[in-house]
Amino acid sequence: MTELGTLYIVATPIGNLEDISHRALRILAEADLIAAEDTRHSQRLLQHYSIATRLTSLHDHNESQRAKQLIEKLKLGENIALISDAGTPLISDPGYGLVTQCRDAGLEVVPIPGPCAAITALCAAGLATDQFKFAGFLPVKAVAKQQALQRLLNESSTSVFYESPRRVADTVRQIVAELGETRQMVVAKELTKTFETFYSGSAQSCLTWLEADANHQRGEFVLMIAGVEQDQTEVTEEALNLLKLLIKELPLKKAAALTAEQYGLKKNHLYQLGLELKP
Ligand code: SAM
Repeated sequence: MTELGTLYIVATPIGNLEDISHRALRILAEADLIAAEDTRHSQRLLQHYSIATRLTSLHDHNESQRAKQLIEKLKLGENIALISDAGTPLISDPGYGLVTQCRDAGLEVVPIPGPCAAITALCAAGLATDQFKFAGFLPVKAVAKQQALQRLLNESSTSVFYESPRRVADTVRQIVAELGETRQMVVAKELTKTFETFYSGSAQSCLTWLEADANHQRGEFVLMIAGVEQDQTEVTEEALNLLKLLIKELPLKKAAALTAEQYGLKKNHLYQLGLELKP
């Protein structure tokens, strides 16, 4: 009986070609076939490492049909490596359908770990890493994006997003509008590349930085939003009532500051709650 083949999920560099493991290079060289998101793009990586393995495409538009063909090959004993244009396949990249179908068919799926922009950004951003929420790309449509951001008002863990250069300034503008100008965040740009940049500060200062120079909006981005501290979320009903009352008479900033002083709470958090309460 023919031995079944293995599907390897191989992480590749997100910019710096040196960021690939010895094991990943060996698997790519030894595989019978490499399934890549964009074969022309991946050819450059393979040429750089003198890897001559055959390539086939697997992208969002052909995944269901291509997965069936790849599963047939795996059943015939071929070993296949899946790669994406950059980073870890399946992380905001194709491959989910193939992996689930392989698992359903009892085929072995082996991860070959390596770069992932979200983790690369998070580990050096200076935000809490004990708990984080990776949410891929925010919705493009304005209302859905607004709702996704509003859900982060009281989020206590760090939120991590991918964003395109076309939308990055607009998204940070919406973060300011929905989560308040003082919410802490980090913009990580061009990770592992020559112009790698981490800009951290309040959401408003990140927006000012992005808008200050068109070059600041070029490249690839990971956005990270700090969580609100746990104890900040414990606002009693009494405190909330005072905030509601003051909001009717005073600017939100002042109302939040007075309520914070009265109940020993954090004014930034009350400010964010106030944004939700405002008619
Ligand atoms: N699978 C990839 C990974 O493991 O990170 C992510 C693929 S997703 C289609 C591409 C997005 O990842 C980009 O739009 C950007 O938000 C982020 N990204 C990829 N490379 C990056 C880099 N070098 N610096 C910053 N962000 C990057």
